[in-house]
Amino acid sequence: MNRDFENQTVIVTGGSRGIGRAVVECFAQRGARVFFTYHQNADAAAQVSTGCGAEAIACPQTDGAAIEATVEQVVKTTGRLDVLVNNAGITSDNFLMLMPHEDWQRVLDTNLNGACRWCKAASRPMLSARRGSIINIASISGLVGVMGQTNYAASKGALLAFTRALAAELGGRNIRVNAVVPGFIETDMSARVPRQIKQRNIERILPKRFGQPAEVASVVAFLASDAASYIFGQTIIVDGGLTATAG
Ligand code: NDP
Repeated sequence: MNRDFENQTVIVTGGSRGIGRAVVECFAQRGARVFFTYHQNADAAAQVSTGCGAEAIACPQTDGAAIEATVEQVVKTTGRLDVLVNNAGITSDNFLMLMPHEDWQRVLDTNLNGACRWCKAASRPMLSARRGSIINIASISGLVGVMGQTNYAASKGALLAFTRALAAELGGRNIRVNAVVPGFIETDMSARVPRQIKQRNIERILPKRFGQPAEVASVVAFLASDAASYIFGQTIIVDGGLTATAG
């Protein structure tokens, strides 16, 4: 394994499960010192820590003060912050007509406002160092219309627009901000997708299977690496061709 992130500090939000966990493990294998957040699942977080040596921190996406304190602590401990991966996210699907406004707000606050809080906190040490990479995990729901996901789609579509605008703000200081858009990836989140919808989509996915978290993690690591040193404000779609083809 290439240890190209040796001596670098990485923060991954929502690293206790799914895609975030694979991202944590990928950076740890490549030599980085990795810190990751989780919300409630302390057992899962402890397993990830034990497995790869990354450090787990309970930090809700909605708590701005805790996010600021976490970034400060990480920088105090390691003296730097090289990479931030905004991965933590939730769904709360329903038709808009039936959606309690609270569910709209919770999804937006976790997925969009949470990422904004992290970017704001992380960009301070990155600006001082004049170096850094931020990768925001969006979704195909932010690109194409998916029924029952108005709240999630709004959060992820806005996250993509936010990525480009922040890239314009920070790019001149050698901080690269990019996004990864996963399609259907095998995690706890996609396990909740109804069987009929899963089957319909698998028929349209070119390799006829859902993706694995590691197949997203490797793209995230690429964007954070020096191999992507000239990539600013871009979106890479990792969806088995789902949104590229007409079926
Ligand atoms: P999972 O549900 O498997 O994991 C979610 C992670 O986010 C967990 O680590 C969870 O912590 C953490 N988290 C959830 N809510 C909060 C919160 N309020 N504060 C802090 N951490 C929180 O999700 P996936 O791995 O499937 O998804 C990861 C990202 O990828 C999300 O942004 C999602 O929208 C996106 N995505 C996923 C797709 C898929 O098919 N799986 C497709 C497209 C995009 P805890 O374990 O403590 O609950």
